[in-house]
Formats: sequence, C-alpha cells, structure tokens
Amino acid sequence: MDYVLNHIPLSTPRTRRPATLIEPSTITIHNTGNPTSTAANERGWLTNPSNTRRASFHIAVDERGAVECIPLNEAALHAGSAEGNRTSIGVEICESGNYAKTLENAVELVAAMLTERGWGVDRLRRHYDWSGKICPRLMYDDGKWTGWEAFKKAVEAKMNPEVPNVKLAPVSVVVNGNEIADGHIVDGVTYVPVRSIAEALGASITWDQKTRTVTLNTK
Ligand SMILES: [Zn+2]
Repeated sequence: MDYVLNHIPLSTPRTRRPATLIEPSTITIHNTGNPTSTAANERGWLTNPSNTRRASFHIAVDERGAVECIPLNEAALHAGSAEGNRTSIGVEICESGNYAKTLENAVELVAAMLTERGWGVDRLRRHYDWSGKICPRLMYDDGKWTGWEAFKKAVEAKMNPEVPNVKLAPVSVVVNGNEIADGHIVDGVTYVPVRSIAEALGASITWDQKTRTVTLNTK
C-alpha cells in the first residue's frame, strides 16, 4: 500500500492546519461522506480555493493507499470537539472505487499505526464518539454499528496474526498385531512414545537425563 506525505501548507485558509503540537492518544475513524472522492481528491479539497469549511484531517485512505495531509503530531479539525481535535489522529476512509479494497487498506494502516505506538483497538474512536455525528457512516447500520465492530475485529486480527493451526491427528501404533500405543501427527511428522514400541519389540530402554539420550538394546 502506498503511503504518501503531502502536507497542506501552514498558510492553508481557515486555519485548517493550526500547527498546534499534540500528543495523540487515540485514532478517530471517519468516512468522507463523498462517494466519488479519492484520497488525492480529499487532499486537494483541503487547499481548494472554493472550499470554505474549517475542517481537516490527518490521513485519507482509499483503494490505492494513504495520503498524510497533516503531520500526526499536529492538531487537525476532524472530531467536531476540541478534545477530539487535540488528542486524536483523524483517518478519513474514502468511499470511492473498490470499497472492500479501501477497507482492507484502512485495516492495514490502522493496525500498523496502533502496533507502532504499542496501542490496542481500545484506542480507536468513531467521529460519533466525539460529537454524535453519524460517522463513519458506512459502518453505522441503522445504529447497530455492526460495521464498526467488524472493523475493530479486523484490525485486531491484523495485529495478532494467528499462530498456525497445529492439527493433532491421532495415529495408532500396532506391533506384531497388537495395538501398543497412540501417537499423533504434527505438521506431517508422526510422534509416538518410543518406550511402548521398544518394549513391544522386546528391547530394553534407558533414558540418560544428563546427556538426554534414549538407548535401545535388543540383546
Ligand atoms: Zn467524520
């Protein structure tokens, strides 16, 4: 995924880049509310002369990647609350193009940002949490916020890749017609208790703890 730095100038109208240094403690998720705009479009809008709104955000992410518009240690005007603007990094999820791919990129981006900071998904906020605005709107689901819960789960899964699922397949060991032991297969290798097999074959078996050696003798 591309991650492009394209900061808006300090001279951007309406103080959209207030240049207030912050130490963020959360990440706030938004949808752009515009079904046709890309991350580059969102960045362009921040410095478009016909834009009269006093609003901004840190990062926009779309199907291609992310564009950072304001340094992450500076305030942006995205939360609809002074506290949110002062303490949270604003991530705008674009609605244009392949939205499934966009969401995948957002999950990857946010998981990396949390990991980098030693944070968990409890650090994630909706715009809604700060101001009550129905945003990120595509996660709203008539107030059930199922998309939001799914998004947090996906981020969490991305941060904690599952340990490969070890399959313990049972194996029976039969010596001269007698079933003498149960074993199992792990990753294609069969493990069985050596003592049971040795004794079934009439061998003596010793275990030297010091050298960690198993000795079989058939004499
Ligand atoms: Zn929002």
